Amino acid sequence: MSNAEIGLIGLGTMGAALALNIADNGFDIAVWNRTEATTQRFVAEAGALCERITGTQTLEEFVASIAPPRAIILMVPAGKVVDDQIAALRPLLGPDDLIIDAGNANFRDTNRRAQEAGELPFLGIGVSGGEEGARFGPSIMGGGNRTHWDRVAHILKAISAKYKGEPCATWMGQEGAGHFVKAVHNGIEYADMQMIAESYGIMRDGLGLDHGAIAETYAEWDKGPLRSYLIEISGKVAATTDPQTGQPMLDVIVDAAGQKGTGRWTAIEAQHLAAPIPTIEAAIVARNLSSQRDARTAGEALFGAAPRRLPHDIVTVSTLSKALIAGKILCYAQGFDMIAKASDEFGWALPLPAIAEVWRAGCIIRSDMLDDMADALRDDPNRNLMMAPNFAKILSNTHGALRHVVAQSAMHGLATPALSSGLAYFDAMRTARGTANMIQGQRDFFGAHGFARIDGGTDQHGPWGA
Ligand code: NDP
Repeated sequence: MSNAEIGLIGLGTMGAALALNIADNGFDIAVWNRTEATTQRFVAEAGALCERITGTQTLEEFVASIAPPRAIILMVPAGKVVDDQIAALRPLLGPDDLIIDAGNANFRDTNRRAQEAGELPFLGIGVSGGEEGARFGPSIMGGGNRTHWDRVAHILKAISAKYKGEPCATWMGQEGAGHFVKAVHNGIEYADMQMIAESYGIMRDGLGLDHGAIAETYAEWDKGPLRSYLIEISGKVAATTDPQTGQPMLDVIVDAAGQKGTGRWTAIEAQHLAAPIPTIEAAIVARNLSSQRDARTAGEALFGAAPRRLPHDIVTVSTLSKALIAGKILCYAQGFDMIAKASDEFGWALPLPAIAEVWRAGCIIRSDMLDDMADALRDDPNRNLMMAPNFAKILSNTHGALRHVVAQSAMHGLATPALSSGLAYFDAMRTARGTANMIQGQRDFFGAHGFARIDGGTDQHGPWGA
């Protein structure tokens, strides 16, 4: 029976949720999974949706179950598995059949796969929102040939999250553009999470607040300009009690953060692009450092713990929220600046306002502030977001709080790498005459690299030997 409108391979956490979402939106879907029993269990547990789902046992049966020209989503681990799956699938497909890699591929792999596919239809799409997003509405960032995207856009838009009725599923550009935007999303996600973790540390160790008060603070912040999914869940995490010990959940969680690498890709690509994203880099460094628990314990034994406790009322939660607002704007300004640089470098014409729009719902960094960012980028996509009138005004009102929080944290030994790097970025970005003239002098001194003179002339040399 070849009647399913779309097929999906890989019924793991994300694939199963996405398949149910597709069926729930009224599309007939064929599914195949490497482990047969998983397919059987998936169909058996699909309830009323099983009418729209065709579970298949072989790849041949799977392909035959989809109406040509076919569209097939891969939701398998990124890397070699995707190449192997494409290699197994292509011989069974016709020249118009479309393969869509919806996993977290490195965009350079997606570029390569698109080139290897040649005329054969191939898309790489970034899907954000975790399991719940995949089931009830993810944010979808598409990359590849626009005509191939248009073939499946109605399905992807239908299953995506909606922001005030607008679907969060957008074509970003050719080849790996969708996976690139997803990687930057994840880099920003790391930074957002790290800045919130720093605010948690200041409240816990600096202000001596208990977890109930911390939870209430996040719940309060979630009603104002910081309103976002990550602030919301941070409040819920802080409010949760461990059923085993009765202690706050956060007190029993080891302070070493893992990562799957997509945030790291953002930092690596930023170096290739010479794009300054210090807050995102600081967040990645902080995760790496968090995993050095033994070294940190030895350091505390050797040097003694920093006092960390802040003098009474020197930092209030209100000041802290303003610092976080400033840090967040600066972090997103860096992320969008990196996207703009990639757009030029790869010739993608990445739609910056549409990227802010596609992140407004469904994904992990979703927030109301992204709607304002979309407006600012629509107004002028070439301007650094921190200079957009609306955000410049907010920054003018909050950078003092960021400076105060960072300074007090430094004075009392509270580590705030992401907030501090945001402040350094801000100060560097408002310094017309910086200090790289010294670097240019040094480079010319030891390597005759040459420099430009402020009164005219490039490739000049200093009289160093004189
Ligand atoms: P899971 O580990 O839950 O599922 C992996 C799926 O891939 C299973 O169906 C598995 O089949 C299949 N698979 C694994 N190895 C092979 C192979 N060699 N050949 C064929 N099939 C294979 O992963 P997730 O669902 O979490 O992730 C899938 C993709 O989605 C990844 O790229 C991930 O990075 C991305 N992603 C994940 C998110 C998340 O929150 N989890 C969010 C956004 C993207 P089997 O049952 O036989 O093992």
